Amino acid sequence: MTEDRGWPDPLAWLADAAAERAAAGLRRTLRPRPPGACDELDLASNDYLGLARDERVLAGAAAALAGWGAGSTGSRLVTGTTELHAELERALAGLTGAPAALVFSSGYLANLGAVTALAGPDCLIVSDADNHASLIDACRLSRSPVVVVGRGDSEAAARALAQRDEPRAMVVLDAINSADGDLLPLADWHALAVRFAALLVVDDAHGLGVRGGGRGAVAEAGIAGEANVITTLTLSKALGSQGGAVLGSRAVIDQLIDRARSFIFDTGLNPAAVGAALAAVRIIAAKPALAASVLARAGELAAICGVPATDSAVVPVIIGQAGPAWERCLALRELGVQVGCFRPPSVPPGTARLRLSARATLTDADLERFSQTWQAVSPS
Ligand code: PMP
Repeated sequence: MTEDRGWPDPLAWLADAAAERAAAGLRRTLRPRPPGACDELDLASNDYLGLARDERVLAGAAAALAGWGAGSTGSRLVTGTTELHAELERALAGLTGAPAALVFSSGYLANLGAVTALAGPDCLIVSDADNHASLIDACRLSRSPVVVVGRGDSEAAARALAQRDEPRAMVVLDAINSADGDLLPLADWHALAVRFAALLVVDDAHGLGVRGGGRGAVAEAGIAGEANVITTLTLSKALGSQGGAVLGSRAVIDQLIDRARSFIFDTGLNPAAVGAALAAVRIIAAKPALAASVLARAGELAAICGVPATDSAVVPVIIGQAGPAWERCLALRELGVQVGCFRPPSVPPGTARLRLSARATLTDADLERFSQTWQAVSPS
């Protein structure tokens, strides 16, 4: 029995919180997708190369399922590492030009693992203000002192690194911002990190498969093999699968195996996802032109919307307030076109936007259909 000390019902605040979100246009709903190909034009997913339904990728998943079963059966350190995990790690390192790789069960967990296992109270983290939530959470979990600098503000980063009391330092950033689609000058950031004896952790979630002929933005910048560079990836975007990875020197990977809690205390990535990702890596390695196609399609989408092209598959159309952004998203959906709608807290207040993502497999007919639909929903 609850003691009666005037405490409120512990869930009573939820109704008010939900009403507040509704008034601000910030309620989210889940929309279960039916199976199979649907009629909607998908300009919302992160399946940048269209590999999530590629027959070779599906065959890779099916073969892994038959060979190793539905689950990986344990943590990576116990029974959850299959020969296929090891093969995927070699393939990812090979594609991206990194010395070694370690597969995690998501990109989120890869970021948590990389930052927490390599930073700590004696390590200053300089973190980009627009970093993905997983990197922000990783910084918080690491118990490191953190200085947040504006997106791409290398002068502020240099000041923080120069003035630090901590012996060690780490710079943490997204190569490509997931809401803006812009690419940071990674070679410059690497030079900055070297100058101040810092590690550089780069999340290349949106660069893999899209930049550098598919090898990613870190490889494109020519810094993939550098000793102080650690790259994190997701297997869930251009690779069309699920999972994440950290790439770096052998010493870095050994530290993660021993110390990254999101690696050690998590069940290994399921074999089907590993098999799918491995097939996708092989396709990307064999066909660098896929990356160029997705960038070309992104440029065409941007032109239709009358916004500048970005450095990636991501095309943001800033609307401003959350309500109107959501209304435009729904209007497009009614006409059979699905785009993303990013609202606070995913983006800063006042910058709610439609987020279109290009796919290498978009056809001219898809683009024509989008163009007509866009005109139909745009205020004249
Ligand atoms: N980093 C970035 C930049 C991302 O956009 C995402 C996915 N939204 C992640 C990490 C997390 O990857 P995953 O979905 O595999 O957990």
